[in-house]
Amino acid sequence: MLLQDLGEFGFIEQIAEIAEGDPRLVVGIGDDAAVLDLGGPDLTVVTTDVMLEGRHFSLDWLSPGEVGWRAGAAALSDLAAMGARPVAVFASAGLPAAWPAEQGRALVSGLMDVARSVGATLAGGDCAANEQVVLDVIALGTVPRGQQLLRSGARPGQVVAVTGALGAPGAAVALLKDRALKRAGHPPSPRLRRTEASGPSFGSDERLGPLRERFAHPQPRIAAGRRLAASGLVSGALDISDGLVADAGHLAERSGVAIIIEAEQVPVAEGCQAAAETLGVDPVTWALTGGEDFELLVALAEQDLSDLLELDPVRAIGLTVVGRVEDGEGVTVLDRNGQPMHLSSGGWDHFTAPG
Ligand SMILES: [Mg+2]
Repeated sequence: MLLQDLGEFGFIEQIAEIAEGDPRLVVGIGDDAAVLDLGGPDLTVVTTDVMLEGRHFSLDWLSPGEVGWRAGAAALSDLAAMGARPVAVFASAGLPAAWPAEQGRALVSGLMDVARSVGATLAGGDCAANEQVVLDVIALGTVPRGQQLLRSGARPGQVVAVTGALGAPGAAVALLKDRALKRAGHPPSPRLRRTEASGPSFGSDERLGPLRERFAHPQPRIAAGRRLAASGLVSGALDISDGLVADAGHLAERSGVAIIIEAEQVPVAEGCQAAAETLGVDPVTWALTGGEDFELLVALAEQDLSDLLELDPVRAIGLTVVGRVEDGEGVTVLDRNGQPMHLSSGGWDHFTAPG
């Protein structure tokens, strides 16, 4: 069987079956991050996330510094999903030998900037020559014992809610793809692009600007994740990296429940509506399946929502109920008439998704 037949999640399942258990491993493969009991007052939380040029990002769309920020944000977002406080990041990079050294420094600086923004530091790494840019980030944090937020904690009768608003990265990618198609007749040479010191230029497209910023500099929801975890009112959580529907599927599977999402309730990020009108699509599709939002999806009792909205970082970014947890399995998305929606893409799978 080929990996593409098995899919990313099937492959991870097979690895989980052969992985050795260990009494120090509180949570192993299958959650946003691993939780280790190393004997101190807090538990240790570790995650890793790899970004490949041509697969996860294009240097046509992002400067090296932005690639570094996004790779760091993706790993740190997994710590946020566990309710952890970041301590350190480590980075292993594959970089073209012919790359200007300043590009390499910019890549690492972007990673350091996002780490610093959430109180973490770059503590080590490795690098090797590679034709395309590869950046693997390990993020390490701590969580007080008993406060770790897991994917397995959603219970029937609860509601599911998301922080912030969704769809901006999906809209940015759609606009960038649309622009690339329109320019297809006059592509700049790859060599020229690679050596641009300042990264790609996006001109003054007002529609793309704010959406692209959300795509290039996602903010891991560390403070909100910590407060939600410390409140004791959230029982299940993960971050939205693959897309709301796909990640709700991970929550449903790990919790052994069904999740019903009402598309009408999903908060769509500012700017998506205008972008959708330009492209003639429905913006809620980006919010449901776009991915890389790096917001948190949490399960809680509905009566606790108002208390959670009082918490400082949560009040600022918002926490919106988007559906409910029921007995059963899988994810159903309902349209405004209460009819099940059929989405063409259920989210991101790293072995089968188109590049
Ligand atoms: Mg995650």
